[in-house]
Amino acid sequence: MNRIDEFAARIGTTGEVWIRGAGSRVEPPGNLRTVEAPTGISSFEPDEMTVTCGAGTRLSDLDDVLAERGQYVNLGQLRHPHGTVGGALATGWNDHLRLGRGPVRDSVLEVHVVTGRGDVVKGGGPTVKNVSGFDLCRLMVGSHGRLGAIAEVTLRTRPLPRATRWLSVDDVDGSRITDLFAHLYRPSAVLWNGFVGWVCLEGHPSDIEAARTEMRDHGFANQESMSGPDLDTLPCRWSVAPRAVVAHVEDRSGQVIAEVGVGVVHSDEVPPRRNTDAATEAIHRRLTDSFDPERRLNPGAGDGLIR
Ligand SMILES: Cc1cc2nc3c(=O)[nH]c(=O)nc-3n(C[C@H](O)[C@H](O)[C@H](O)COP(=O)(O)OP(=O)(O)OC[C@H]3O[C@@H](n4cnc5c(N)ncnc54)[C@H](O)[C@@H]3O)c2cc1C
Repeated sequence: MNRIDEFAARIGTTGEVWIRGAGSRVEPPGNLRTVEAPTGISSFEPDEMTVTCGAGTRLSDLDDVLAERGQYVNLGQLRHPHGTVGGALATGWNDHLRLGRGPVRDSVLEVHVVTGRGDVVKGGGPTVKNVSGFDLCRLMVGSHGRLGAIAEVTLRTRPLPRATRWLSVDDVDGSRITDLFAHLYRPSAVLWNGFVGWVCLEGHPSDIEAARTEMRDHGFANQESMSGPDLDTLPCRWSVAPRAVVAHVEDRSGQVIAEVGVGVVHSDEVPPRRNTDAATEAIHRRLTDSFDPERRLNPGAGDGLIR
């Protein structure tokens, strides 16, 4: 029996079960039976830029192996390196470099999941880089393990940036940041807290130098910092339309740092709960009915059980 089938056997076909990652953010409610996904890298193809691993593999272990060949995988782990691949995918949590690096869901090429019926289902493929039609890989990202327990994944790797540079600028009305945003080619992050703007540039040292020269025209001269702002003091995230970010920051009285161009606003204030419309709820119900009709997998995950 291979490790995916063993994982499926442990999940079984009856009774509620919780898939445990590193337990860094979310603990199982009550005395639920817990199961851990397989660990370890089963193949790494640096030339193909793909890696296949068990979903229980620690992100830090994966990072170490990929870094030896000058690569990384974008699973939003910058601020949370000790979680597991499965936990990162199940929560779909992006880090603050999403603007340049793209969303976590774009890193998944192939996924093996165990449904609530105990079946093993495969989606995507190691060479499928663009998918049309029903996309199981992306569906699993952010599903909090309620549609399927992620057993093994093939992920797209990328070259590690040769250089990283953060710059900052005083900006009381957001004009410098928005002006810069319109001109600069693919910054990795553009952040603004209502007073100061930060920009992260990643890539080849000569490209970064060229961008810095352009940024001097936007007031960034002599205001360099070695790292971005501290986001750990702002535990909540609001989601706003990217074009509404400046107005949103101006309206808030508490502390905020906005990801310009993305629409995520890090805040010390809990965002209001969003009401799901009836049509969206019906889609959720239909999907869950097909993957986990008895609602066995991760009951309550993603419903505010967060530590
Ligand atoms: C509310 C919340 C706040 C967060 N805040 C931050 C933050 O401030 N900064 C940051 O960088 N990251 C944050 N994260 C994301 C965090 O980085 C990820 O939750 C983390 O990577 C999880 O890894 P883990 O292995 O510890 O997962 P766990 O905490 O063990 O599990 C997280 C969820 O994923 C499910 N899960 C785990 N493995 C699998 C699997 N194989 N198949 C299906 N489901 C699975 C679990 O059942 C659970 O519901 C947050 C996440 C949440 C949910």
